[in-house]
Amino acid sequence: MEVKIQLHDTMQRKKRPFEPIDPENVRMYVCGPTVYDRAHLGNARPVVVFDVLYRLLRHVYGADHVTYVRNFTDVDDKINATALARKEAGAGGTLEELVHQRSDETIGWYLNDMRALGALDPDEMPRATEFIEPMVAMIEDLIAKGHAYEAEGHVLFAVESYKEYGRLSGRSVDDMIAGARVEVAPYKKNPMDFVLWKPSTDDLPGWDSPWGRGRPGWHIECSAMSHELLGATFDIHGGGNDLQFPHHENEIAQSKCAHPDAGFANYWLHNEMLQVEGKKMSKSLGNFFTVHDLLEQGVPGEVIRFVFLGTHYRKPMDWTEEKAVDAENRLHGFVELIAQYGDVDDAMKLRPEQAIIDALADDLNTHAALECLKKMNGSDDANALARNLIFLGFFSEEALSARVSTYRNGVDSLRRIAQKLHDARQRAMKSKDFSEVDRMKHILSLANVSVRMSKDHVDLRPEIDFDPAKLEGL
Ligand SMILES: [Zn+2]
Repeated sequence: MEVKIQLHDTMQRKKRPFEPIDPENVRMYVCGPTVYDRAHLGNARPVVVFDVLYRLLRHVYGADHVTYVRNFTDVDDKINATALARKEAGAGGTLEELVHQRSDETIGWYLNDMRALGALDPDEMPRATEFIEPMVAMIEDLIAKGHAYEAEGHVLFAVESYKEYGRLSGRSVDDMIAGARVEVAPYKKNPMDFVLWKPSTDDLPGWDSPWGRGRPGWHIECSAMSHELLGATFDIHGGGNDLQFPHHENEIAQSKCAHPDAGFANYWLHNEMLQVEGKKMSKSLGNFFTVHDLLEQGVPGEVIRFVFLGTHYRKPMDWTEEKAVDAENRLHGFVELIAQYGDVDDAMKLRPEQAIIDALADDLNTHAALECLKKMNGSDDANALARNLIFLGFFSEEALSARVSTYRNGVDSLRRIAQKLHDARQRAMKSKDFSEVDRMKHILSLANVSVRMSKDHVDLRPEIDFDPAKLEGL
């Protein structure tokens, strides 16, 4: 069945049918992280949102016909600061090497955390430092075309040279000046003019350029990398709402002025922000945590994904503990049903459910997609449930198979352990010595098994992170 995708385009402020430039190569660019530290939970929202879109596009156009680019910004003062601190503390290597090391380390963390949330790696993950040459070329071109000027070792983009500046966020240059905390600098012709290139001091990373040794501004990175990897016009540009202004506005100005005959991005998608228990996440409120923190606390990645997808991407998403507990129970029930009645290999022969595809095709209505999953609760639905959980990225095929067989093996041994615990309890009732019962209950809790005991019955129920390896000794 043909799928008609509708996406909400920030530029046109409405939902409209998605028509790719080339269905053989659908192209999407999403702004990636500045790699100076671990990703906080809010950083993960766009990753999960655009992963769902990526999966939908791959389903509709074919996995080999979608190119997804997400960059790493590895030119940054905070990365430099860490590298400098390490050098001062006696770390070996040049500063450049230490900078690179810090970026490598952070990129490794980032990818591990995002994979734990079920996000596929994009096809291309360019690093800004590998694209300095095209950035310099683009800046030279902007100067030649009269859109940028050099002043005191800086190169600035002249916002007045681009009539449509402000169209994405719907503001005029005058409004922006009134509303923004603009960096006033004597060399700027207009306070809204933004940096394309700035000088670098001798002790910090820098690259040679026609304007002296320096480094690129943040915005030019995305314009240059998207052009190199996706061309002057591509289909979708995504990112968080907080990037609309000034970052995306500036990307548009640079790219449209450098390539006036091209369209840059045809659809602009923005996700709303994340809150924690109804409040903005902030270090001062003490509710700031990273994805890694949550994973370390034992919140599985698929639980985080489930909570995220429960809210539409254009609405603020509230992370609450209650939602996490609900999601964990829900996913546990899914795995249980599949373990009892399903078969993951057989499930992979099915197509994803049309109702779920339709929900996603309607501007990524993930909430509706999850509602479809919840309705798959009969023994006949087990394989369809498995197929769609994998399609939506909650588990890889391997991870779900492993989960199911762990569950089955665990249930087998739990049957035996339940009898043993029952007998131990009977003995303890007489001897009043409950030490063996307590010992067994302690091991079960370490293995994440919930224990319910009544007078003549012991019920052992594996939880979602049930770990049968820990049952040794029972
Ligand atoms: Zn960007």
